[in-house]
Amino acid sequence: MNITERKQVPTESVSDRQHPPRHTLRKRTLLDEPLIFERSAPGRIGYSLPEDELPVRELDHDLPPALCREALDGFPEVSEGEVVRHFTRLSQWNLSAATTLYPLGSCTMKYNPVINEVVARFPGFSHLHPLVPEEYAQGALQLLDDLARCLAEISGMDAVSLQPAAGAQGELTGIKLIHAYHRDRGHPRKTVLIPASAHGTNPASAALCGYSVVEVPTGSAGVLDTTTVAGFVDADVAALMVTNPNTLGLFEREILQITALLHAHGALVYMDGANLNALMGVAKPGHMGADVIQFNLHKTFSTPHGGGGPGAGPVGVKQHLEPYLPIPRLVRDENGYRWSEAFPRSIGRVRSFYGNFAVLVRAYAYILAMGGDGLAHATRMAVLNANYLRKRLEPAYHLAYPGPCLHECVFSDESFRHTGIKTLDVAKRLLDYGFYAPTIYFPLVVSGALMIEPTETESKETLDEFADALLTIAAEITKHPDVLKEAPLNTPVSRLDETRAARHPVLRWTQA
Ligand SMILES: *Cc1c(COP(=O)(O)O)cnc(C)c1O
Repeated sequence: MNITERKQVPTESVSDRQHPPRHTLRKRTLLDEPLIFERSAPGRIGYSLPEDELPVRELDHDLPPALCREALDGFPEVSEGEVVRHFTRLSQWNLSAATTLYPLGSCTMKYNPVINEVVARFPGFSHLHPLVPEEYAQGALQLLDDLARCLAEISGMDAVSLQPAAGAQGELTGIKLIHAYHRDRGHPRKTVLIPASAHGTNPASAALCGYSVVEVPTGSAGVLDTTTVAGFVDADVAALMVTNPNTLGLFEREILQITALLHAHGALVYMDGANLNALMGVAKPGHMGADVIQFNLHKTFSTPHGGGGPGAGPVGVKQHLEPYLPIPRLVRDENGYRWSEAFPRSIGRVRSFYGNFAVLVRAYAYILAMGGDGLAHATRMAVLNANYLRKRLEPAYHLAYPGPCLHECVFSDESFRHTGIKTLDVAKRLLDYGFYAPTIYFPLVVSGALMIEPTETESKETLDEFADALLTIAAEITKHPDVLKEAPLNTPVSRLDETRAARHPVLRWTQA
């Protein structure tokens, strides 16, 4: 079916108001789909079982009659085909990496090869019970060991734990390792330094571990400078938590001086590895002085995400932190692989069993399929794509920090702030052009931030379509500000009270 031929879904916001002619827009109307109850017709059935040869036993033999219903009033009566069509159409109302460019900065919403889904579903993996004795699970254990070694190689770290279930849990694990390291040296220290541009999970992880967080300002070029950091370092600093490239998409150029400075004061460096999509195959955090990093496998290594999981946030460490890694740890002897808890200095478990195994399988399949050269190529394409968009959009949007970026570029609202149009309006308008919106209002150091991460999997044609949409919107800011303030106009519903929609969802259908 051709989506663009279907009539536009009427919404309250467009029905009785006047708008400038919208023929200038490229129409991408969504499917006009009623509630499944409205598709219902009496007596229509989805599935019928063959006549049973056995005697029928009435339910009220066994159940009190008061609990038995005569009829299923209000239930939709629809055929199987109608059910499939209904839900398939509804699924088209979502913008996803499977339907469009999904440039959500910091989240790396790249298209992930379906082959990795197939591999994760192999019965030998998907039917494997976590309590199966190790001797029957040697293949799976070898996969975990190989994956940990691949991740160590990619990051330049010495050892990897696959246990943490998400990036944020990897951060917490990493900070706990740092805490254990300092405690073993007689003084757990008190503070963790975090740049102003950091992801919100960074201060949360440090605080959960009992540290006070001290914010380090971002320099005028959008990166840290050593002199500023030096002003914050003292004997109470346990670690610096730094993201590289940072959340402005910029490489921390003074990273070597900064990590040397921390180490000179006996402090450690936590590197948030969520942006590894901009480094893998090209540069290694382990070479930059990181003592511990987390990987976001669901961002960089092929697990579709965005719906709330599952993900995986393995942690890589240098040798001096290895004794503290979570248990159980995989060990290998003449009988093969087995789990061991014989690591007395370990911080203990951070998750049940051994991590989100199916996510680990996808990452392993992805890494093997790409190979070292393939990963490096993906990194280069991610950086090229972000810079291509940066150059195309620079004439119309204000770049927060001028100059080349790595895998994402961040614009501010400076060019349109005086018009009363907000970054939110621009983001909502993009939905009308069929694109998911970039990350907005993050990082906090940029006013009205619009943070775009195209990823390596987009073609030049798609990047151009996306840039054209944003350039058209930039023109609309002065020509049709009223349209922008009401956008989106071509979606089933327009602007929702997002908090109320989450807290008081209306899930019950009542017959009119
Ligand atoms: C996504 C992200 C995180 C958190 O990862 P989750 O898997 O969502 O917990 C941390 N830091 C940065 C920079 C991120 O982009």
